[in-house]
Amino acid sequence: MKSIYCPKCDKRVETEVKETMASLTVRKAGVRARQLQAICPTCGEMIADEEISRANLESAFAAYRAEEHLLFPEEIREAYAKYGLTQKSFGILLNLGGATLSRYEHGALQTKQIDAAIRQAAQPENMLALLDEHEEELPASQVESARQRARAFISKEASEHALAGGRAGNFRLLLSEEAPSERNGFRRLDWPRAIQIAVYMATHCADLGRTKLNKAMFYADFSCFAESSCSMSGLMYARATRGPIVDQYDAVFGQMVREGHLVEESVSYGPIDATVFKPNEDFDPSLFTESELQILERVVQFVNSFATAKELSEYSHKERLWVESDNGDALSYMGAFELNDLNRFIEV
Ligand SMILES: [Zn+2]
Repeated sequence: MKSIYCPKCDKRVETEVKETMASLTVRKAGVRARQLQAICPTCGEMIADEEISRANLESAFAAYRAEEHLLFPEEIREAYAKYGLTQKSFGILLNLGGATLSRYEHGALQTKQIDAAIRQAAQPENMLALLDEHEEELPASQVESARQRARAFISKEASEHALAGGRAGNFRLLLSEEAPSERNGFRRLDWPRAIQIAVYMATHCADLGRTKLNKAMFYADFSCFAESSCSMSGLMYARATRGPIVDQYDAVFGQMVREGHLVEESVSYGPIDATVFKPNEDFDPSLFTESELQILERVVQFVNSFATAKELSEYSHKERLWVESDNGDALSYMGAFELNDLNRFIEV
């Protein structure tokens, strides 16, 4: 029992506080969240005190954060605390006003743009670049210790990859550690699968240059998402002038070549020299399900139905998710359901 003031009865009443699941709207998004509810035993009106209101708001925001894959307050704090930076210094690195981070850490909702900026800044390579850029504005001791920690994270990560027999040299997919979200199709980057999709495309698609490989990977991943609510590779995609592209595709395809899965060959079309990808190994179907293999096959047919990479590119410019985004934007896999010819790729 709790004593709460009822405005209608104009007195404090003793009431039971119940917990229910409620459908709420937060920033235009529908969420389900636990909400506390108290009813005045005298007049039957719903009543609340500050404590209940605060708990309900926190619960609704937490549900929204989970739904939209936004960082939680403690994760925001961790993003800079792991570098030994103060909240104020991290705010300077992000070009945020003084109290902004503090508001987020006390439960206010950050925008998706700011959320992305915080995640990016928390990556050690990016942190080093930000420290260089804002060196003069931060206390020297903080800059130095943050640099040391960033370098330690980088070398730790490199040695872990080396131990896993993994990626060589300076290759590091900036966003590879992103938890499952709508940007990676709710799958953490699965590098062996990403490689095999590219090997498959290089084996079966005619004249597979960068443009075609980007589009082929895009249609494979997005169709797979539309069919199974999970991407095939976990790769992220972005909007470019020439259509959807694999985020950081130069690094991604370059690494596939360096690791010896693909080779680049120069071919001449009359006066024009172009580079195409050829497979350097046999495709390994064992990593994929039967319906994923069917999607790969259909994407190849689709890609090969275009005479040139340019025509394929122009086709992709009619996709709604491309039309409705700006260059550089990450493409949400949620747009997969609106692909123009989805039934080309999956059984619908
Ligand atoms: Zn009342």
